[in-house]
Amino acid sequence: MRAKERRALDTAAQPKARFPALLERPLAPAGQAAIVRPQRPLHEAARDATRRAPPSGLGLDSDAVRASMVARLRADGIACEPVLQAMAAVPRHRFVDPALAQQAYEDTSLPIGQGQTISKPSVVARMLALLFDGASAQCRGSLGRVLEIGTGCGYQTALLARMARLLVSIERVQSLHERARERLAALPFEAGSARPRLLWGDGCGGHAPLAPYDTIVAAAGGEALPPAWLEQLAVGGRLVAPTSGPDGGQCLLVVDRSDAGLQWQRREAVRFVPLKSGTE
Ligand code: SAH
Repeated sequence: MRAKERRALDTAAQPKARFPALLERPLAPAGQAAIVRPQRPLHEAARDATRRAPPSGLGLDSDAVRASMVARLRADGIACEPVLQAMAAVPRHRFVDPALAQQAYEDTSLPIGQGQTISKPSVVARMLALLFDGASAQCRGSLGRVLEIGTGCGYQTALLARMARLLVSIERVQSLHERARERLAALPFEAGSARPRLLWGDGCGGHAPLAPYDTIVAAAGGEALPPAWLEQLAVGGRLVAPTSGPDGGQCLLVVDRSDAGLQWQRREAVRFVPLKSGTE
């Protein structure tokens, strides 16, 4: 700690000047022993104050808040049960800054730091439902071997873990990768879920050592699909990613690989953060 900061803390350590009424009150009625509770050392208190603890006591831990979000998604036409079940179970408020936790179950995108955002629940649900619509996922009842590009805060990773047999998630921003790792580790492990393998790196190259993947999903959009993603897509697999649309905006691209080759479909317009190369 620098001398200037220590002086500032030491000044705060003289509460007599700041709270005279409190200190001048007798500690205990005459004749009784005073109970003096030790204070936390100031440097520890200052460190604790900077910790980002998940909020509690706001009603956000109750299943009811997630159930009403899921009811709204259902009313908006999301009918994919595995996706709705996962969204009913994963505490979205634990993946955003505590100051924004109250908005976690509204249909809104939220900043997650480093200029990135967590997509709004309706977009996450739509994307995951598109993955499940793939012929093989429907037969299997699971997304199988999954590659996610853009871990971000880890919320979608937590949802995918409940629907996957194997899950690899890559994030290019180291601080986001580390924070997502902490958040995911703090969640109770659900039997039958995949344990996410979180990697810090440029996801444009996919992750060849565990390829091929039945499902590939990107949370960031570029001009064109990186060739590695198509190379790492299994036969029977489906890829969903935002890419540049014909009007200069972005749309969701769905690519299926069958024995006959690749089938491409352009779906609805979306707005995701840019897919960037390299790491930071
Ligand atoms: N689904 C995520 C959304 C995160 S936003 C969530 O639930 O939070 C998209 C993320 O993609 C950002 O964190 C961004 O840093 C990351 N990203 C962009 N380009 C990338 C690349 N080439 N490789 C890996 N991650 C990338």
